[in-house]
Amino acid sequence: MKKPKLRELKEALTAVVKGPDTTSFPITPLEPAEAFRGQPLYDEDYCIGCGACAEVCPARTIDVIDEGNTRTLIHHFDNCIYCGQCEANCTTKKGIRLSHEYALAVFDRAQAITSVEKELVRCERCGEVITTREHLEWIARKVGSLAVANPTLLVPLHQRFGATTDPGERPDEKKVGRYDSYMVMCPACRREVYLTEDWEG
Ligand code: SF4
Ligand code: SF4
Repeated sequence: MKKPKLRELKEALTAVVKGPDTTSFPITPLEPAEAFRGQPLYDEDYCIGCGACAEVCPARTIDVIDEGNTRTLIHHFDNCIYCGQCEANCTTKKGIRLSHEYALAVFDRAQAITSVEKELVRCERCGEVITTREHLEWIARKVGSLAVANPTLLVPLHQRFGATTDPGERPDEKKVGRYDSYMVMCPACRREVYLTEDWEG
């Protein structure tokens, strides 16, 4: 048997005295560094469901699903590259944050998701998706008094405070008039209404 080299012998003795360099994870959890980029998590209170995080995600790992009156944002953390673009470009700056969560192993990849749901607002004329109610309210607060120029911003805000009165019966089913201009509408319908409305209606 060859004699161990001196360097290897020194390392072996040092390891005996110092203990192993490896950690005992997962028996002892690790405390990540302050700047560690772990699992992105939505904050329901600050997320307005605008979908900007999905737009900027380079891994396309956030789905925006609009069904009925609900928008669901689904983050698939098995495909996430933890780049932080969603957090950096979040409209409210606090809707999604990279946490310190790192133990993300699952047996079924379908379970590797987190999600948030928001109420969706659709055009009252054509049913097209506009955005979420919270997004409209956020824009309305941002533009302040200018929101009065656009009923799509103003009406949801009024509804929030119970201030919208019942518009009553439509004056004429076929005629486009003042009645229509105070509806929540997509940009295409609002253009059409403003261009064709009959001021008598
Ligand atoms: S508020 Fe932020 S987290 Fe929520 S959908 Fe918009 S960009 Fe994404
Ligand atoms: S951290 Fe990067 S890859 Fe992961 S969801 Fe956010 S933008 Fe997408």
